[in-house]
Amino acid sequence: MGNLKNYLPDQYDNTDLKEINHNYLIEQFSDYREIFGKIEQVVRKGDYTLGRAVDEFEKKFAEVTGAQFAIGVGSGTDALFLSLKALGIGKGDEVITTPYTFYATIGAIVTAGATPVFVDIGEDYNIDTKKIEAAIGPQTKAILPVHWSGKICEMPRIDELAKQHGLHVIGDACHAILAKYNNYYAGSLGTVACFSLHPLKNLNVWGDGGLVVTNNQEVANRLKLIRNHGLADRDTCREFAYNSRLDTIQAVVGMHILDNKLEYITEQRINNSLFLDEGLRGITQIRVPIREPNIKQVFHIYMILCEQRDKLLDYLQSNSIDAKVHYPVPMHLQPAANNLGYQKGDFPVAEKTAEMALSLPVHEHISKEDLSKMIDAIKGFYR
Ligand SMILES: *Cc1c(COP(=O)(O)O)cnc(C)c1O
Repeated sequence: MGNLKNYLPDQYDNTDLKEINHNYLIEQFSDYREIFGKIEQVVRKGDYTLGRAVDEFEKKFAEVTGAQFAIGVGSGTDALFLSLKALGIGKGDEVITTPYTFYATIGAIVTAGATPVFVDIGEDYNIDTKKIEAAIGPQTKAILPVHWSGKICEMPRIDELAKQHGLHVIGDACHAILAKYNNYYAGSLGTVACFSLHPLKNLNVWGDGGLVVTNNQEVANRLKLIRNHGLADRDTCREFAYNSRLDTIQAVVGMHILDNKLEYITEQRINNSLFLDEGLRGITQIRVPIREPNIKQVFHIYMILCEQRDKLLDYLQSNSIDAKVHYPVPMHLQPAANNLGYQKGDFPVAEKTAEMALSLPVHEHISKEDLSKMIDAIKGFYR
């Protein structure tokens, strides 16, 4: 393998930007001096790990996600992993989930010691609720739906199935901050919901961070223990566990976004996605995202399905539009899944989606003019 490089910093590279980019972090944090001022308060108090800022941020985060408790952890991946651990899920247990997600969803299940059991997705990119029951077996302990691109899964039905079969529901809400199903936020659905504060997420910080939210006090307490060495207090270790605390400095950044920007970020993404829907709907080779009136979808990504995807991708890139694919290979076909026993053809909708998916920049710093340029470029390609 040689010496693996830290490839991820490439995605923050600002030296060779296109005209229209997914990359918006420099603009987003142009008020960084204000955040420095808030971080200075932490430094002056020396309040570094699980400090007051974490406490305040957790409280506020619980409020805006509709949950009673929020527990800050090291990342979205850890939010998922620690949730599984807190619910006692591990070796010999199966967790039902989607093959169409970011690697971390599956990584959390596998590193917790459990086995992911995939169920194909539907036309809306989310786990196909109709197919879940057939996958439930004696080893099943939880259903782990992913609210892909910020569209909440059919949670009432998933909760009902979980109740019938005595399962937990762990929501991967990493795309779904402020998303709603009817009047319910992602955080108030299921046993727990997991969020990421990664720089490329809607509510983002200056590094890694994540939160689990829940209405179950026992689960919340267990999470508070195991994110911090299992310590009930300084000298009492209830169980040997992990160190995955939300960093105090990241909590300051998160609070800044939550207080000042999250609503705007969300509204702009929704507005931009509506504008793209309107402009693209008439193109027969494109399918715009499926919407449902009772779901407030927050468009962490704006993902369309298109014919000749790879050619369109090249075309947009050469027209200085930074379209991307999230993601070209579903989880069951990744090399990491070799030992899970799946093969090509097992999940036709996920596989087709991976072949046809294309994401267009939809973030809050995209102008209407840029959106129109993208629409015109796509029209031009199919003409
Ligand atoms: C980003 C993401 C994660 C992991 O979050 P990190 O904070 O990067 O660990 C998990 N699931 C989904 C769907 C994600 O998009």
